[in-house]
Amino acid sequence: MIKAKNLKKVYKTGELDLEVIKDFSLNIEKGEFISLIGPSGSGKSTVLNMLGCLDTPTSGNLEINNKNITTLNKTQLANFRGEHIGFIFQSFNLIPVLSVYENIEYPLIMIQNLPQDERKKRILRLLEEVGMLDQKDKFPEQISGGQKQRVAIARALVTNPQIVFADEPTANLDSKTANQVIDLMKKIQKEHNTTFIFATHDEKIVSKVNRLITLEDGNIMEDRRA
Ligand code: ADP
Ligand code: MG
Repeated sequence: MIKAKNLKKVYKTGELDLEVIKDFSLNIEKGEFISLIGPSGSGKSTVLNMLGCLDTPTSGNLEINNKNITTLNKTQLANFRGEHIGFIFQSFNLIPVLSVYENIEYPLIMIQNLPQDERKKRILRLLEEVGMLDQKDKFPEQISGGQKQRVAIARALVTNPQIVFADEPTANLDSKTANQVIDLMKKIQKEHNTTFIFATHDEKIVSKVNRLITLEDGNIMEDRRA
């Protein structure tokens, strides 16, 4: 489902070229629950952003769902992302002026041809699934960190993506809340066969994935299945 071959990422910072990812090749199958680990600065977020079509590789080849991503322009990439990919961030990234319900609805604006009643049904089902139905009219500042991440998970899933990327999704949560959020994602992976790809140091996530990719200085050091 994801085929990355010889990905390289060079950041241009002033006169200095920073080669952050040197030669990254990896195949990921549908339904995997997989994490990139490695020390801070090893390139986890950079890889996640490339695989998640938020950023483009400097060179190399990336295929997702049999589509060659590296030839798409910015608009095509955004459309592809909207159809196939969900993203969950460390700091939740909810929109403060939108309610819980409206935050989850937001990605559906991209999908123009979805009928109104189907739209509503989908949002309510997800609110139920992440245990936030009774909080749907609240605003982000009125709910806890764990609840915000539940909303972010629902938002990532509302377009029915086949792949969800999560960058340090538990870093701002206490360990009990983190475990609940991880269990929720695991449940969704099992029930819908959604692929989850994490970047994290969190041992609580690491102990639950099926496969661990260790990064060091922009290279894969180890690819281990649990
Ligand atoms: P990790 O997520 O493992 O902590 P990152 O992928 O965020 O690592 O960063 C890898 C390296 O790339 C770091 O040295 C970081 O400073 C650098 N880096 C990340 N993003 C940028 C950017 N937009 N411009 C320049 N350098 C960057
Ligand atoms: Mg990072």
